[in-house]
Amino acid sequence: MTTRKQVFQLLFKNKEVKQGDIVTSLGLEKSTVSRLFSALHKEQFIVLIRELAAGKQGGRKTNVWALNPDGYYGVGIQVQPASITFALVDFVGTIVTTSHVSIGDWNDLAVLYRELKKHTRHFISSCKKSIIGIGVALPGIIDSENGVIVSSAQYAQWNDIHLAEFLEDAVGLPVIIENNMRAAALAEQYLGLGQDTAHFFCIGVDAGVGLAVVADNKLYRGANGCANDLHIAVNPAGPQCYCGRKGCIEAIVGNHSLIQRINDPSIQTVDDIYAAVVNNNAVVKKMLWEAGAYLGQIIAHLVGLFDPEKIIVNGSVLKMGTEYLDVIRLAYKQHMYDMHGTHPPIHESVLGDRAIITGAGMLGLSPVLF
Ligand SMILES: [Zn+2]
Repeated sequence: MTTRKQVFQLLFKNKEVKQGDIVTSLGLEKSTVSRLFSALHKEQFIVLIRELAAGKQGGRKTNVWALNPDGYYGVGIQVQPASITFALVDFVGTIVTTSHVSIGDWNDLAVLYRELKKHTRHFISSCKKSIIGIGVALPGIIDSENGVIVSSAQYAQWNDIHLAEFLEDAVGLPVIIENNMRAAALAEQYLGLGQDTAHFFCIGVDAGVGLAVVADNKLYRGANGCANDLHIAVNPAGPQCYCGRKGCIEAIVGNHSLIQRINDPSIQTVDDIYAAVVNNNAVVKKMLWEAGAYLGQIIAHLVGLFDPEKIIVNGSVLKMGTEYLDVIRLAYKQHMYDMHGTHPPIHESVLGDRAIITGAGMLGLSPVLF
């Protein structure tokens, strides 16, 4: 990693740093750091927060620096079923502007390409800011290094799609694509509950169920980049999953599958499910509690495998009420092998709905920042 990136990451994580501390933590010459900070300041990457006078006990005079939020920006794009969300993310990871557009059938590649190109160009020109790059978060198996959608169990046409190259050609900026839960994990790592946590994993439930594992401060991808899809069959007699098997955790807890199985015309959204729980709808509660119990069981298995410090959950599980989360936590504890007498806690993401799109925006900044 370049010295610049090391400095940027320290600034991003710590919000502000003393110039003298950079000399110590990166083991550089004072004159080198002084030249570097002066150049970064001139290029508008950093701002001077204050000057600290020399201490009476002999401490030296030093400058305190922070990243310049308004210096450079990243664009985050979140591709979801039938819609695309855009966000302008500043140099410290804050979302400045968002825009949401509905598209037709996203499984139709021609539609996805056309809409993505049109709306990305429009969004970028409307921002009128210095944009470093674009990060795109999507479900499925993503080869982030080569910018390719490898495959998706849910979308048959998503096969060996060179999306980054297509979008780079369309807008003339660097494009990084990433699996949506991994984008969320990046945001958690720097801005959410994953800060100062070397080992954690994120589980997101929406239409599907996604996983992102951070081990030893690094995102774990697996040999084939597939370590993010939770197509794990937990009940052979369970509902059919689009991946071809029965009783996949995704087919049990995913929103679409739940709504389909509830089979009640008045229940069409996650909010409807929550309302039914509040109204004590016995059918909905039974189905949801059963789903939550399976999810808790899967989390216990994953904890047994990866030994994290914490688990961060996100997505629709946060919209279905605390009772549902209690069911998940109880099943997790019941299935957990109690090695140390403690269980890593299951936390609700504090970034919530913003996690994926923030992570995507941070990926847009990654040519400079990460
Ligand atoms: Zn499946």
